[in-house]
Amino acid sequence: MTQNIIIIGQGINAACTALELSRRSSDFAITMIADHRATNGAIASGASWGWVNAHTDHNEAYYRFRNSSRALWHGLIWDYPQISARIQSSVVFDLPPEDIENTAVEHAAWGYPVTAVSRTGVETILPQFRTPPDAALFTKGEVAVETEIVAGELAALSGATQITAHVHGLIQEGGKLRGVMTDAGPQTADHIILAAGHGTPALLGTIGIAYDLDQSFGLLVRTKPMMHWLDTMIMGPDYHIRQCIDGSLLIGGTFDANNDTSRNVLDTAQNLCRRVEANFDMPLGRQEHLEIARFSIGKRVLPKGGLPHIGPVGHHPNLFAMAMHGGVTNAPLAATVCADHIMGLQRRPETLPFTFPPLEKEPSHV
Ligand SMILES: Cc1cc2nc3c(=O)[nH]c(=O)nc-3n(C[C@H](O)[C@H](O)[C@H](O)COP(=O)(O)OP(=O)(O)OC[C@H]3O[C@@H](n4cnc5c(N)ncnc54)[C@H](O)[C@@H]3O)c2cc1C
Repeated sequence: MTQNIIIIGQGINAACTALELSRRSSDFAITMIADHRATNGAIASGASWGWVNAHTDHNEAYYRFRNSSRALWHGLIWDYPQISARIQSSVVFDLPPEDIENTAVEHAAWGYPVTAVSRTGVETILPQFRTPPDAALFTKGEVAVETEIVAGELAALSGATQITAHVHGLIQEGGKLRGVMTDAGPQTADHIILAAGHGTPALLGTIGIAYDLDQSFGLLVRTKPMMHWLDTMIMGPDYHIRQCIDGSLLIGGTFDANNDTSRNVLDTAQNLCRRVEANFDMPLGRQEHLEIARFSIGKRVLPKGGLPHIGPVGHHPNLFAMAMHGGVTNAPLAATVCADHIMGLQRRPETLPFTFPPLEKEPSHV
């Protein structure tokens, strides 16, 4: 029997969930509703650096979650080779030198394909690096995702109906969740999935559930496409850089929302590019400097406590939510957890160490 499923969102979590559900059963009639598509930098997926990795802060449970999701990305690339994601290595040195060896030993013991490399090792991997660090982590088999494109590609592959509308609230009758109210009218559903990033607190608020998210901002500069010269993702303490499939460089840097006014964001973006130019030999051609095509200031979705929030919400078995940073990495596994829940499949609790927070209020039976 057909089950109507509404997914609020068209970012990477929504897209992975739509695809996963469509692969599980043709009985699911899936509708994605969002007021921004992933291609819009105003939401996290449109302003993401797109690095799929399982580096964690000594948290083995979270490492295992991320690493399983990394494996699911490999599966997606195998099943749909046309998507704008590819397997790549990374060189990471944005942590104190003394932590590099410990992190490599710890993560390698957990099964991660990571080693600690010396300056000579970095020079061998990246001969174009003018100022290689003394030590770095070198990891194979991570994934670079052109997130804003891939979200659209996966949503299209799912065959879901896509509606552009603002969702004003969730519709409850007799304590049961019946659907959503959009500015294009009401939509009923058997299941509602919130993959709404920073929209999640306001939507839950409409059924009396208090939920709060933190945020921070990240600057991302995209250059005009250039000759391919970089096939490794690089994370340094003051910049990260990778070359995308179309040849553009995607350069991330810190952004101080309090002091970087809109007037000087362009200066900050240019300074970031200068830093990268100073550190690498790259084919600039006739240009003196990297040419900026565009930049974005992304708002990170930061659940309280730092770890993702994924799971059914409180007393509503037909309401599932997912809110997280690291969502590009985590989306395929979050989608799997969601599909398991909708299909009534039990997961072993250790495979999902982060439930959605409990209700702070009893249901209001509006
Ligand atoms: C600068 C930056 C760099 C990052 N780098 C990485 C990285 O390298 N690796 C990694 O794994 N993660 C990274 N992240 C985090 C990652 O991008 C996010 O965790 C992920 O994109 C979250 O996706 P999402 O689909 O949950 O939410 P979002 O992409 O924010 O999408 C939310 C969706 O909900 C819709 N929506 C919300 N409210 C409503 C409403 N009321 N009505 C209708 N629609 C609504 C929006 O329109 C949108 O479609 C980065 C984030 C930033 C900001």
